[in-house]
Amino acid sequence: MSFPASRRQFLKTASAGTASAFTATSYARIVGANERIFPCLFVIVAVLSAAHAQAATLHVGAASCDITPDMPPFLAGQFSPRVSQGAEYPLTANVLALESRDGDKPLDSAIIISVDTGAVRASILLPIRAAVQQQLPGFDVGKLIVAATHTHSAPPTRDGQFKQQEGVQVPSDYVKFAAARIGAAAQQAWNARRPARFSAGLGHAVVAYNRRAVYADGTAVMYGPTNVPHFRALEGMEDHDVNTRFFRDTGDKLLAIVVNVSCPSQEVENNRLLSSDYWGPTREMLQEKSGRDVTIVGLCGVAGDPSPHLRYRQMRPDPISAVSCRA
Ligand SMILES: [Zn+2]
Repeated sequence: MSFPASRRQFLKTASAGTASAFTATSYARIVGANERIFPCLFVIVAVLSAAHAQAATLHVGAASCDITPDMPPFLAGQFSPRVSQGAEYPLTANVLALESRDGDKPLDSAIIISVDTGAVRASILLPIRAAVQQQLPGFDVGKLIVAATHTHSAPPTRDGQFKQQEGVQVPSDYVKFAAARIGAAAQQAWNARRPARFSAGLGHAVVAYNRRAVYADGTAVMYGPTNVPHFRALEGMEDHDVNTRFFRDTGDKLLAIVVNVSCPSQEVENNRLLSSDYWGPTREMLQEKSGRDVTIVGLCGVAGDPSPHLRYRQMRPDPISAVSCRA
């Protein structure tokens, strides 16, 4: 095994290792490990399936859609304007629809949507809600959960963040385009729901490093150098848990995998290409292993200062690691 040639290769390697660790573990283990960082889905699935355990069956549907813009937009995530010159990995939205039923009687429901965007601001949340409501008039949008993968390589969703340029897509036009597709995907997932069950997994992968470096004088600097004599430590913790939920129908067909990683998707945050960042190759690999039609719902767990950028050993392989890798 050779030392990873680049951070992106490293991430591919790390996520490949994680994928192989995606085996179902005992539910009790997951309850203890996940409550603090994976609360939403845990509560939803638990309520949907366990609270009505006497009589309820879980029904699940999933769908994905491509929300890569069809004309060059700005890229959000840096202070200065960047105009997209193409797409590295497509931007997607991935939808999981959940419903519990007692016979034919619906008991509770939720739709979870992971979106390759920077943040779920009102500027995109409200149009998504309206689009879902239009497609599914009977669905309570109070039970719609929209999450961002926090890529820094997706269009802004608010007009006026950057001075508009000719030939560059207006952010609100992009939002209309994306929300319409996401609403259609929500309808597709909802209509596809069928009796299903779920299992849970816990793997580990070093995706995040804390971005704040602490120095001998007690100061800390975001992305400060770590190869200087007065560097002492990274300031805060990183969470390397990779929590998963696997949803299968009664014929054991895998419908969707929800993967929670406590790290924003922003390894390639400075270039001029649209990208879902590490979720792009991660989804590709998981679908190679699990099936092209399996929906991968990537969630960003608690990750204020964690970042996917290498914070040390950036210049050359650590000789000890290189030796142990060869061994
Ligand atoms: Zn950010």
